Amino acid sequence: IFRMVLRKLQPKSGARVTLATFVDISHIEEAEQMRRDFVANVSHELRSPLTVLGGFIETLQTAARDDVEARLRFLDIMAKEAQRMNRIVDDLLSLSNVEANEKVRPRDLIDLSDVIGSTIAALRPQIENNQIRLNYDPATSSHVIRGERDQLIQVFRNLIENAVKYGGSGGTVTIRTREHARMPGFSGPVVIVDVVDTGDGIDSVHLPRLTERFYRVDTHRSREKGGTGLGLAIVKHILNRHRARLSIQSSKGVGSTFSVQLPKDT
Ligand code: ADP
Repeated sequence: IFRMVLRKLQPKSGARVTLATFVDISHIEEAEQMRRDFVANVSHELRSPLTVLGGFIETLQTAARDDVEARLRFLDIMAKEAQRMNRIVDDLLSLSNVEANEKVRPRDLIDLSDVIGSTIAALRPQIENNQIRLNYDPATSSHVIRGERDQLIQVFRNLIENAVKYGGSGGTVTIRTREHARMPGFSGPVVIVDVVDTGDGIDSVHLPRLTERFYRVDTHRSREKGGTGLGLAIVKHILNRHRARLSIQSSKGVGSTFSVQLPKDT
């Protein structure tokens, strides 16, 4: 998309010259379109819990007014919907914070085994509730990189939480850390953390779009599991800030591997 910019020039000769310049504004239009889509998506995502809340409030004011048992049940559903709105807003704020300082390279020295250990400890209840078997050997994974601890915890929390959520009850989640001296796209050594699950896997057509905001393979399933559709978008932006990459491999019926590749010398 081009926009024409006209400029009147007055050369010394006295002649009147108009200069027409064509400026490519495709990228501006594209950014505008993305912003519009994002606002529409956010509104849509927030409207659905609001609609549920509105409906139940009305029922509580009328039909269920004197039904104690129904009231308790409805209040329970309403509390869940309010929690869902909270999660969406929390994730939106995280995303905007990450984007705001995406250009600033983190400088702290971080031990990844400490980050992964803390993440697993925080997710323990979820891991146990889903009867997931977790394989992780911290002894083999003392790798120090430059990063921001809280953001790295958020990355691994989102990935391990997804592996637990979509890994199917009774499945296995394996976390492996290794180092490669060289890798395409990196100038020095790279630390790779794999989060492997034995879930249903993801059809390959979805893989390129998984880190888009609000993109889900199965919206109903994501909602049921308490997902917001923003987890992997947050992961992508945090990894951008760390000059790191995410690669996803998955096969239907076998499971998925989410690999984080972090440069060792940043
Ligand atoms: P959500 O909050 O919906 O989990 P994410 O951004 O974390 O959002 O993930 C986007 C979508 O990618 C999920 O809705 C799900 O469909 C799919 N997904 C993510 N991780 C996995 C996984 N380990 N196994 C299967 N599907 C996954």
